[in-house]
Amino acid sequence: MKFNLNTAELFVPDGLPAEEALARTTHLCVAAHQDDIEIMAANPILACFQQPDQWFTGVVVTDGRGSPRDDLYKDYTDEDMRVVRFKEQKKAAVIGEYAAQVLLDYPSKAIKDGSNQQAVEDIVKLLQATRPRIVYTHNLADKHDTHVGVALKVIEAVRRLPQDEQPQQLYGCEVWRDLDWLTDADKVPFDCSAHENLQLALVSVFDSQICGGKRYDLATMGRRKAHATYFASHGTDVTTGLSFGMDLTPLIANPARDPGRYVLEFIQRFAQEATDRVQRLR
Ligand SMILES: [Zn+2]
Repeated sequence: MKFNLNTAELFVPDGLPAEEALARTTHLCVAAHQDDIEIMAANPILACFQQPDQWFTGVVVTDGRGSPRDDLYKDYTDEDMRVVRFKEQKKAAVIGEYAAQVLLDYPSKAIKDGSNQQAVEDIVKLLQATRPRIVYTHNLADKHDTHVGVALKVIEAVRRLPQDEQPQQLYGCEVWRDLDWLTDADKVPFDCSAHENLQLALVSVFDSQICGGKRYDLATMGRRKAHATYFASHGTDVTTGLSFGMDLTPLIANPARDPGRYVLEFIQRFAQEATDRVQRLR
């Protein structure tokens, strides 16, 4: 499979030919950085784990060259960091038994440039090769520019497909900002109760990002536990781990719908709920 950058990589943990490996995909996640998939898409990874008829494919759009580094990695060059982060992402693909792991290798600035179409073209190709039922990406209220840049490119790519080739669902998931603030009616809850050991392993292989004091492993597992407990104030917990998604499917159903206005509607419903409660109780 040819991508726009000839440094892009496609890794198949079980060694199947690329085309065959991609074609079995049912759940596809397109993320900005190495580790974002494992932070935001544990539910589909686990849903596909050891399932003969469900397969998870991960796509990481950026190159990892600008990653923060400390401790063991503090003297690594940008090129060294790219190598380490690619290696870590492939380790996760092995642990999670992904159908395939794609690394598109774009510099962040290409993704933060709304007019750059290269990644969109690659994502279109991948969507055509994988024909997933469900696509996961970053949510539109994330506070990291590259994350929102990826989400916009995914939306654009899906919109380019003929309607009968589009995924049934598109979800925006949480990394750099929880989605706990969404009204409960707007939350898409993803159960992350199963295989806590695997969940922890998946977020733990990214040593270059954790080493030096950013405990993404503990923070991610903690967020899932916190969401499980704080989701409903009455009754006992029905899950032991939960993450939240923002439904982006209406943006593909109606290509004229503006993503900026769409995210504002979620914020307005939240604002309404909070102000209504105060009015009601004073
Ligand atoms: Zn990221």
